[in-house]
Amino acid sequence: MKIKSKFHPDKNGYYGQFGGAFIPELLYPNVKELEDNYIQIIQSDEFQEEYKALLKDYVGRPSPLYLAKRLSEKYGAFIYLKREDLNHTGAHKVNNTIGQILVAKKLGKTKIIAETGAGQHGVATATVCALMGLDCTVFMGEKDIERQAPNVARMKMLGAKVVPATSGSKTLKDATNEAIRYWIQHPETFYLIGSVVGPHPYPDMVARLQAVISEEIKWQLKEKTGKENPDTIIACVGGGSNAAGAFYHYMDDEEVELIAVEASGLGVNSGESAATSQLGDVGIIHGSKTILMQDEYGQIIEPYSISAGLDYPGVGPLHAYLFDSKRATFMDATDKEALNAAYELTKIEGIIPALESAHALAVLSKIKFKKDQVVVVNLSGRGDKDLSTYIKHLED
Ligand SMILES: *Cc1c(COP(=O)(O)O)cnc(C)c1O
Repeated sequence: MKIKSKFHPDKNGYYGQFGGAFIPELLYPNVKELEDNYIQIIQSDEFQEEYKALLKDYVGRPSPLYLAKRLSEKYGAFIYLKREDLNHTGAHKVNNTIGQILVAKKLGKTKIIAETGAGQHGVATATVCALMGLDCTVFMGEKDIERQAPNVARMKMLGAKVVPATSGSKTLKDATNEAIRYWIQHPETFYLIGSVVGPHPYPDMVARLQAVISEEIKWQLKEKTGKENPDTIIACVGGGSNAAGAFYHYMDDEEVELIAVEASGLGVNSGESAATSQLGDVGIIHGSKTILMQDEYGQIIEPYSISAGLDYPGVGPLHAYLFDSKRATFMDATDKEALNAAYELTKIEGIIPALESAHALAVLSKIKFKKDQVVVVNLSGRGDKDLSTYIKHLED
């Protein structure tokens, strides 16, 4: 048995003061059913066999750990890229949706609901529902449906029903509200959440499913350098799932520096930002107590980032705890810094990163590395979806 980490939640789902399950009474049986079963399901041989086989043959794992030579030369460190961009569907999100769909099946659920902002989690969910022949409904803000037409088309082609959320600002938080409302009315459905957010046990379940990222980094790095620990791991944070996966097996090794990068949009104090740890304070969002951007009345402040996946007004409770306890260092990158980092990686390594991942790359130029420092950057996704943004700004 593994020694319990202080970065795992307690039995009520708290990481320090963050987490818990703040949900309407009517959802209690659903969440309780999941809470009572998820660890046992995930740890069962049957689950592990099926999960690992799908990750290997369907997703294409292990994703490579690539020593980026020219990038390393430029920044004077050994920089390895964890290539989540090479996964089926183009990002880390599928690690989680594959895992949760198997949990849903073990619980006997046949209908899946999800919410999505930019559509990446919606596509990853629709994909695994097609794979398993399960009914899929995705809630999406009306404004996002207009902005993200290619992902809407993908979801529809994959057989999902896309339901527009027409309330409020017609974006992600409204889609989440709609999904929760639907869940209350249809408790037989399984709510497949896309990041380490939401009521307990979702943050812990999603972190465990993304932990495959750091599990692989350990043996891959050992193979390449003789040591399983890097000096530094860098990952971008929207809700925090790719960072949770990249950090997971290193959280207790205090000598491994963890760097979480938030999107600061047009600048941290510009009013157009998503740098939650710098701008937020403690409150409740999506059923958990965490750090979020809110006004003096507790109303959520609309976040902004050029990258749709980082455009989220909170962080998951694990990250709130990593921030509060100072276990992780939080940094930020603006739109412009992320764009420049994306153009740079493309030019010198031939890899077009997702805009989200480009935020992680953008802090390389802000850190003073020691000689021979070993750094892993989690390249959470590929940039195909961001091409029109890249092309538009190339002329600026
Ligand atoms: C969704 C997404 C993110 C942000 O989500 P996290 O839960 O913070 O990982 C980051 N990178 C890519 C490529 C994404 O699609």
